[in-house]
Amino acid sequence: MRLYWLHKAMNPTTRTSERNSDKLLFTPGPLTTSATVKAAMLRDLGSRDYEFIATVRAIRQKLLAIGGQPDESLYTTILLPGSGTYGVEAALSSIVPANGRLLLIVNGAYGKRMMKIAAVHKIETQVLSYAENVIPDLSAIEAALAADNTITTVAVVHCETTTGILNPIAAIGALVKSFGQTYIVDAMSSFGAIPIDLAACHIDYLISSSNKCIEGVPGFSFTLARKDGLIAAEGHARSLSLDLVAQWRELDASGQFRFTPPTHTLLAFHQALLELEAEGGVDGRAARYKANHDVLMYGMQAMGFRAYLAPDVSSYIISTVYYPTHPNFSFERFYQTLNEKGYVIYPGKLGEVDCFRIGNIGRLYPADLEGLLAAVQETLHVMQIPQLGLEAR
Ligand SMILES: *Cc1c(COP(=O)(O)O)cnc(C)c1O
Repeated sequence: MRLYWLHKAMNPTTRTSERNSDKLLFTPGPLTTSATVKAAMLRDLGSRDYEFIATVRAIRQKLLAIGGQPDESLYTTILLPGSGTYGVEAALSSIVPANGRLLLIVNGAYGKRMMKIAAVHKIETQVLSYAENVIPDLSAIEAALAADNTITTVAVVHCETTTGILNPIAAIGALVKSFGQTYIVDAMSSFGAIPIDLAACHIDYLISSSNKCIEGVPGFSFTLARKDGLIAAEGHARSLSLDLVAQWRELDASGQFRFTPPTHTLLAFHQALLELEAEGGVDGRAARYKANHDVLMYGMQAMGFRAYLAPDVSSYIISTVYYPTHPNFSFERFYQTLNEKGYVIYPGKLGEVDCFRIGNIGRLYPADLEGLLAAVQETLHVMQIPQLGLEAR
């Protein structure tokens, strides 16, 4: 809570003035975006226009700087149309060699999605699987790498958005590097809001997308990649449009995409990057999201809701809470009632336990989370659930 009051002192306005009447999105994306990000799209720029090419150039540089590599000597940025999954599929299908073997570390839905991608592309895969509230075991990863020297590539999700659990990408990266393997990190829901130093984490490929913590609109993914790895991966691609190396070559050669770029989305994203800088970069954004998360979890727990994750493994991106046990509780009705009040939470159950998720990323401020908490309280009242009847199973 301390951070929240600090934040409130520094940001006295609730910024409701920049809002239209859309519902607020407490989801993992698409997210609530600023009016200025949306306004940046109200232009038609040609994909070969010098101004557009300069915008793409600036976006690529700014993203590298966020990853701690401002000078572009080791790493580069590859932008690719599509949602985040297209970026993950592009990385896996472009990088793993034909006779390669992938080690996947899985503790949620997005890890499982990488399993599906590998299966579609017939990439030989070994999976280390964990429950959705459990951090992967480093010694098991080390043992798997030591036991099988045919493994070429290791992939893991940073913030598993399924629950909000935060995986130890630096420690895993050190292991992967000690075995000389390629390291791919899906940092979709963390990049821009949780500090990540690409080199310190030994990351070869980091994938994220336009509509998560940078607070742009949907339309493309981006991959921060080591150039030596890209050069070595030449010819590995299993797809034309998702060929990461070919997309990199074209971006470097002409500054352009190979095929039609999402021009409006890129304009919005450039504006979103300027707003990230104005907020104090990753640290500033992290402070706001932490404040959002603190307000949310403090309020939910005060009402009697119980968190699914232990606080020491939980991120400040999205929060998972158990369904209340009260017989009057129906998630459908809970969701619908909040929705009618203008608050969109994130439906969809976890594997084995009855939980729901609330995101606190996007253009949301602690006052918005307070608004959501008040709406939750009213909704419980409407559903005739006394607060002390909320204890979880
Ligand atoms: C959002 C997300 C993705 C990509 O999902 P899309 O729906 O394709 O944008 C992948 N991994 C994680 C961890 C995510 O949060």
